[in-house]
Amino acid sequence: MLQSRILIVEDESIIALDIKTSLLDAGYEVVAIAVSGEDAIAFAAEYEPDLILMDIRLRGAMDGIEAASEIVKLCRAPIIFLTAHADKYTLDRAKLTGPFGYLIKPFEDHNLITTIEIALARAQAEAAVRESLRQQQTFNEVRSRFLAVVSHEFRNPLNSILFSSELLERYGNAIEPDRRDLYFRRIHGAVHRMNQLLDDVLIMGEADAGKLDYKPAAMDLKQFCQELLSEIQPEETPICPVEFTYQIVGMSTSDMHPSLDRKLLNHILGNLLSNAVKYSTPGKPVLFQVRVSEQEILFKIQDQGIGIPEADLALLFSDFHRASNVKAIPGTGLGLSIVKQCVEIHGGTVEVDSIENQGSTFRVKLPIQSIPAYA
Ligand code: ADP
Repeated sequence: MLQSRILIVEDESIIALDIKTSLLDAGYEVVAIAVSGEDAIAFAAEYEPDLILMDIRLRGAMDGIEAASEIVKLCRAPIIFLTAHADKYTLDRAKLTGPFGYLIKPFEDHNLITTIEIALARAQAEAAVRESLRQQQTFNEVRSRFLAVVSHEFRNPLNSILFSSELLERYGNAIEPDRRDLYFRRIHGAVHRMNQLLDDVLIMGEADAGKLDYKPAAMDLKQFCQELLSEIQPEETPICPVEFTYQIVGMSTSDMHPSLDRKLLNHILGNLLSNAVKYSTPGKPVLFQVRVSEQEILFKIQDQGIGIPEADLALLFSDFHRASNVKAIPGTGLGLSIVKQCVEIHGGTVEVDSIENQGSTFRVKLPIQSIPAYA
């Protein structure tokens, strides 16, 4: 078990050393001895002790109670007052700082140790309650965001389906063939978006439950990337041209097939590529570079789109986070969180560089075990 770390605040050196010896004998660690209120505050901040034994009368301008009232703002270490003063006035002042114990000097070693043990146990129990409240609050926040995003993201495509199907029903054959095709495309697109959303929600559920399957197998990575691109970029109506390059470096044979999980890789690249297109002005090219070496694969996806404001970068990979500049571009804020989890299962990393209004570059590095093709 870890030794509890204790800060002693006592200006009489003989008493301080006596307490220190008792604490060391009982198996605690003494992080420091402070002789004034000011030192006590500085040491509490520096050492972050598990518990503080605080003499009330101290030399200098500040007494132990004043020091304690400052320390409780800095850290959560329980404080036990040690004092020769049992008068009501001192006790009432001390109570205001929420102490975990009050020992009247002189005291026996066993009283000191018992008071410390009770204070440590109470502090631990309070920390556990705080942590569970924090988790509950986080859970509530995530649930509210989830419901807001999912209902919003379902309502839009459902409205689009309703609107297009009503027009088709009402005007039937009177609609020009081109317009009819447009309405059908809108319906298909909306169904596709809802399917995508359901997929994302299901993957998040699997990831949260620790049930994301990782089944790496040798694959033809180049072909995989080309197939993925043709899904994202229908040839007839490309929104942004994707410039794809595939490079193998430092390997004796060009037909080494890396071992990766196809399904997870599909989530990683599918999300990054569709974001690059979605957040770009139509027509602006997107670069998709793959560089395979013996140790790792580097995927670089670069766009010249709306970019990401600096304030959003740190939160980008959290569930449901969307940057402040997305305006009406649809999305759930789930894709990058899924990317991160799929990358981490491969033991890899994902990074982003971005400047607002200039574009974004996502880099994914995955370590590989190369398996010779046809092995
Ligand atoms: P979304 O469904 O909103 O696109 P993601 O989790 O995929 O969700 O991305 C989270 C947020 O990151 C997006 O809402 C957007 O603000 C920002 N983002 C992701 N990729 C890009 C990109 N290529 N260019 C600009 N912003 C991006």
